[in-house]
Amino acid sequence: MDLRFTPEEVAFREEVRTFIAENLPRETRERMRLGYRPKKQEIIDWMRILNRKGWAAFNWPQEYGGTGWSAIQRMIFLEENLAAPAPELLSFNITMIGPVLIQFGTQAQKDHFLPRAKNLDDWWCQGFSEPGAGSDLASLRTRAEKDGDHYVVNGQKIWTSTAHNADWCFCLVRTNPNAAKRQEGISFLLIDMKTPGVEVRPIISIDGSHHLNEVFFTDVRVPVENLVGEEHKGWSVAKYLLGNERTGIARLGSSKAAIRRSKEVAKEVRMKGRPLIEDQAFRTRVAQLEVDAKALEITQLRVVSAYAKAGGNKPDPVSSVLKVKGTELLQNSSELLMDVGGPQAMAVWQAELAAMANEPEIGPEWAPQMAPAYLMLRAASIYGGTNEIQKNILNKAVLGL
Ligand SMILES: Cc1cc2nc3c(=O)[nH]c(=O)nc-3n(C[C@H](O)[C@H](O)[C@H](O)COP(=O)(O)OP(=O)(O)OC[C@H]3O[C@@H](n4cnc5c(N)ncnc54)[C@H](O)[C@@H]3O)c2cc1C
Repeated sequence: MDLRFTPEEVAFREEVRTFIAENLPRETRERMRLGYRPKKQEIIDWMRILNRKGWAAFNWPQEYGGTGWSAIQRMIFLEENLAAPAPELLSFNITMIGPVLIQFGTQAQKDHFLPRAKNLDDWWCQGFSEPGAGSDLASLRTRAEKDGDHYVVNGQKIWTSTAHNADWCFCLVRTNPNAAKRQEGISFLLIDMKTPGVEVRPIISIDGSHHLNEVFFTDVRVPVENLVGEEHKGWSVAKYLLGNERTGIARLGSSKAAIRRSKEVAKEVRMKGRPLIEDQAFRTRVAQLEVDAKALEITQLRVVSAYAKAGGNKPDPVSSVLKVKGTELLQNSSELLMDVGGPQAMAVWQAELAAMANEPEIGPEWAPQMAPAYLMLRAASIYGGTNEIQKNILNKAVLGL
């Protein structure tokens, strides 16, 4: 297998990089360079810029407004977007509900939702996890009972990322509590978040941000035409969604951006009177992470090439390696960045205290988001299927244990 990029792929990377450099709004780029998470409007604006270029639905077939890119091109695009760093495309819209509707949706669902999803006219969220149903998702208990031409939904979801921003939620609900197998009584419903009976309560995470929510459903009436696929067959839809697009799962571009930034900041930070960048122990640590990033890049290329050669339509369990190694690298590189900041990495909290005491903010501009980013990334080995579960998949499906 040839693990080098072809001249066309190298040219494609350059095209993507140039487009991002020329079109990403300056303020967004600057905030993201300093480690701030993009605001809702910045994500919407960037998705619309990409959509005008024809790149937002980077992984959809061309007939639905997608790019028709190869798996390698998709990987390059995602990596360049993360490394810029530009706001990530809203995965709920682009890699989750879009491909699901293309595969399982009715013509009316496709016509209505797909153009809106890729232009971020509708913000989607994912209502899968519940208290007591995370890794063991099939034990979910949110009920949907048929009442004429509606389902009536009652129950609770948890860890619903960005539900407070969302217009719509794709949800797994139990439609047959008496099915012989738990997986057989589940359906996949599209729920308008403005429907009476939907309540979103914030969960503030350890980094101090509001990203997560609990979502409660009390007698929420959902038209039957919002069922995706067959009734009671939602498990197949969910499996397709979870396995469908794993090209960007390593999020290598983010790790590369954090390592790059560590080196930049290490030129400013001084240790024993000299710039930290000259310290041998620091240089060894950076080198180790850069080797890890290179190894991951080659593994990613190997997995993505094999996936493309196999026709690009069947998820490969080896991609679980990318999730495990990718999140380890993300966490290690954010830890490096925080260590470079030292006590100043805690500036966000110092600044809050200072604001309360009416004192000026403390710390240089590069500092405030270091600790929050580090803390938020602890969750990377949990969301999208925990790393322990990924290792179980590898044990069974790849190693045959
Ligand atoms: C930041 C963040 C964002 C999220 N966003 C969403 C979202 O938008 N929508 C959504 O539906 N969900 C979301 N989730 C939920 C996420 O999918 C679950 O947290 C995850 O699937 C784990 O489930 P759990 O939290 O119930 O933990 P559990 O499944 O209870 O696991 C607890 C621990 O036990 C381990 N464990 C469990 N089963 C096994 C096993 N069989 N073998 C070995 N170890 C095991 C796990 O690895 C973990 O360490 C998000 C979570 C986080 C942290």
